[in-house]
Amino acid sequence: MARCPNCKAEIDRLVFEETKIYSGTIEVVNRQVSTDTEHSDTGTHFDCPRCNVEVATEETVAVSILKGEYDG
Ligand SMILES: [Zn+2]
Repeated sequence: MARCPNCKAEIDRLVFEETKIYSGTIEVVNRQVSTDTEHSDTGTHFDCPRCNVEVATEETVAVSILKGEYDG
């Protein structure tokens, strides 16, 4: 069984939240409107559902916690 590295509670899942920023440009070329949008990840964090503390920022670490392989 996996344990939260913070509160030591037995957990079978982590809650994750990801923040993305969308940005782009809009212009008029030959009287046609052209938009170009791109997005970039700005952050992901994985929280314990019991204590709500962030325990990982990378999915590989989150998975190792859930597999019970995390020793940090
Ligand atoms: Zn916890």
